[in-house]
Amino acid sequence: MTDNKTVNREMFNDVMVPNYNPASMIPVKGEGARVWDQEGREYVDFAGGIAVNCLGHCHPAMVSALQEQSQKLWHLSNVFTNEPAIRLAKKLTEATFADRVYYANSGAEANEAALKLARRWAIEKHGEHKQQIIAFTKGFHGRTFFTVTVGGQPAYSDGFGPKPGAIEHVDYNNIDALKELISDKTCAVMMEPLQGEGGVVSPDVEFVKAVRELCNENDALLIFDEVQTGFGRTGSLYAYEQLGVTPDILTSAKALGGGFPIGAMLTTTEIAEHLKPGTHGSTYGGNPLACAVSEAVFDVVNTKETLDGVKQREQWFKEQLAAINEKYNVFSEIRGQGLLLGAAMNKEYEGRARDFLLAGQEHGVMVLIAGANVVRFTPSLVISEEDIKEGLQRFEKAVAQVVGQ
Ligand SMILES: *Cc1c(COP(=O)(O)O)cnc(C)c1O
Repeated sequence: MTDNKTVNREMFNDVMVPNYNPASMIPVKGEGARVWDQEGREYVDFAGGIAVNCLGHCHPAMVSALQEQSQKLWHLSNVFTNEPAIRLAKKLTEATFADRVYYANSGAEANEAALKLARRWAIEKHGEHKQQIIAFTKGFHGRTFFTVTVGGQPAYSDGFGPKPGAIEHVDYNNIDALKELISDKTCAVMMEPLQGEGGVVSPDVEFVKAVRELCNENDALLIFDEVQTGFGRTGSLYAYEQLGVTPDILTSAKALGGGFPIGAMLTTTEIAEHLKPGTHGSTYGGNPLACAVSEAVFDVVNTKETLDGVKQREQWFKEQLAAINEKYNVFSEIRGQGLLLGAAMNKEYEGRARDFLLAGQEHGVMVLIAGANVVRFTPSLVISEEDIKEGLQRFEKAVAQVVGQ
């Protein structure tokens, strides 16, 4: 029995919908790249709240932005605008290809807006025949019914009844398959500029360039889902900059709020015009607290120091993971970009990524998986060299434990 002063993990099973199966301990405090649980055990955090906490936990710039805004104004709805929302939109549009911003509260919501906008644009500009949305196998775009159906993992979208229609999938990095399918009926192609949930899979630059060209030839919109890759994660503010391919619509969330829920859809003035007053919206979208925090995150992330630092940290991770692999021979490949990295299991450890995650927890390091076969690392973009070393030493112990089993 639990008294009402004690919150513990067992209670989760009694009061929560069982769609998650969280770890057996409950974290209660975080600072930078370290986290402590109820028992006072300390962890190095290489998960970053699933690629969210881009400045680690309780970064002073974010705490101060939140405190300051919390004494001014919490919420207004979109019946009124607010200063933080306009300031952040100004910064986002100045730093990207985009001219316009729509705010949401999550990645899925930003993608939902992007897909609805693409359909509106196509129907208004070309007519009802132009509805097809093409996306990629193993892609992930969120869990609303539209976005999960556009995502390329049927296991996530099956079993909920009739799906939104006119959505098709081809394999990532297979330009011939896309060429075959795309036509003047295609309204948009949606892709991640590096598949995160699907296993940390980079696209070939040539492939992405060819996708852009096929979209141009068929007057289809190119939507980049940068929910995971965006806001500094891969070493530039957005990953499209490094690919040299500019999308028509870009979505951002996760690191955009650094731990405060916010999502955004960015696009051009010409496309944005198709979401006229009343066509789409969100009660909390553009919330002043969320936008104030996001602005503080932007000011730290969008600097040469932070973005160059991501590249430096990528090197440290890749070198040290390679050294671990030399010793234990468990990975077939260490891949990814910036601080969105994946260690793919070799044949012998196929399907066992989760064992490494669980052993990591025992040894005081939090990592993620991306599918059954990839251990994923998405730490704070400003994690210290010392924390990386310490975390990877703990991870090495976890690897040794799995190998010894
Ligand atoms: C996490 C993620 C989403 C979904 O974001 P939520 O905030 O969970 O709705 C969408 N697209 C990509 C690429 C993601 O990684």
